[in-house]
Amino acid sequence: MSRDPARELAALRDAHLLRLLRPLGSRQSPTVLRDGRPLVNFASNDYLGLAGHPALAAAASAALDEFGTGAGASRLVTGTLPPHVALESALAELKGTEAALTFSTGYSAAVGTLTALAGKGDTVILDKLSHASLVDGARLSGATVRVFPHNHLAKLERLLAGAPTSGRTIVVTESVFSMDGDRAPLGEIATLAHRHDALLLADEAHALGVLAPEPDIPIDLRMGTFSKAAGSAGGYLCAPRDLVDLLVNRARAFIYSTAPPPAVAAASLAGLALIYSDEGTALRNKLWDNIRRLAPSASSAIIPHLVGDESEALAASEHLESAGFLAPAIRYPTVARGTARIRIAVTAAHSAEQIDALAAALELERRL
Ligand SMILES: *Cc1c(COP(=O)(O)O)cnc(C)c1O
Repeated sequence: MSRDPARELAALRDAHLLRLLRPLGSRQSPTVLRDGRPLVNFASNDYLGLAGHPALAAAASAALDEFGTGAGASRLVTGTLPPHVALESALAELKGTEAALTFSTGYSAAVGTLTALAGKGDTVILDKLSHASLVDGARLSGATVRVFPHNHLAKLERLLAGAPTSGRTIVVTESVFSMDGDRAPLGEIATLAHRHDALLLADEAHALGVLAPEPDIPIDLRMGTFSKAAGSAGGYLCAPRDLVDLLVNRARAFIYSTAPPPAVAAASLAGLALIYSDEGTALRNKLWDNIRRLAPSASSAIIPHLVGDESEALAASEHLESAGFLAPAIRYPTVARGTARIRIAVTAAHSAEQIDALAAALELERRL
């Protein structure tokens, strides 16, 4: 057989690109159990520690008692229940947009939105470091796909100028980049996009709950997920009413998928409410104290340590694990070949001692 799966796996292993599932024995928290051993967890996107917060569990539990486990059908059939409605109206209000739509995952929000709003004759212009879900959505849409070098405004402007005005153009970027932790200049990108009559989609998966809200930037499509700082699961899209109504009619990832379990929507709403509460502000301040303690100039909770070589990145991650830290090696195809890295994610739940111990271990690793 020309495509023997065992051979394909061996090739991945030889290239240091094989991935394996390694279950944890405990819930998300600053200390987790792997293979029975406690490790300080710097691998989770649970930036505010909400995945284990009692308010989210209580909201999920109450919804579970009232609405049961499964939604039973897609949102357009009988799957729209009070927790879905409450979540979408809270989201639109908090984000200051006319409407909001939720999806089962952030991945399906990205794919559903781009495939519904773009097609043949349209253009999707992506930042080079855009998440795989955005790349997949752009490709699946059938639109012409263009890519600009990371945060390169001049190149973006040239691509905008070259896009056919007969079709819709969507510029796609991320508020906080998932594997580099830096940010996009959203204000400037919005200005450029609107000068060329294009829509701007910003994926705020790693910004929600981490950055203070910036409602003044005119972002047409705010996409994100409840699976990170909001401590729950499910994707969202905040946009003007007409665009959301169009998604309800056209987004196949929304239409042809059973609605998220109502208890999950209830947990997402509790997580969202917490993010926008005084407790959320206090957690965000604690998160930023921890971020600055580890990396004073960081612009998000994601702090990558570039290694380069894939096998060296794996070795560094293994050294850190034997020193008691869970810090994953990120390799191709998640990042470009030869740019493998250790991706550190700091949370509000880490203690100062845990941050200092990691800093010492990273320094030791750098000198090896
Ligand atoms: C995690 C992530 C997603 C997907 O969200 P899920 O809810 O996990 O499916 C989309 N975009 C970015 C940038 C992400 O990091």
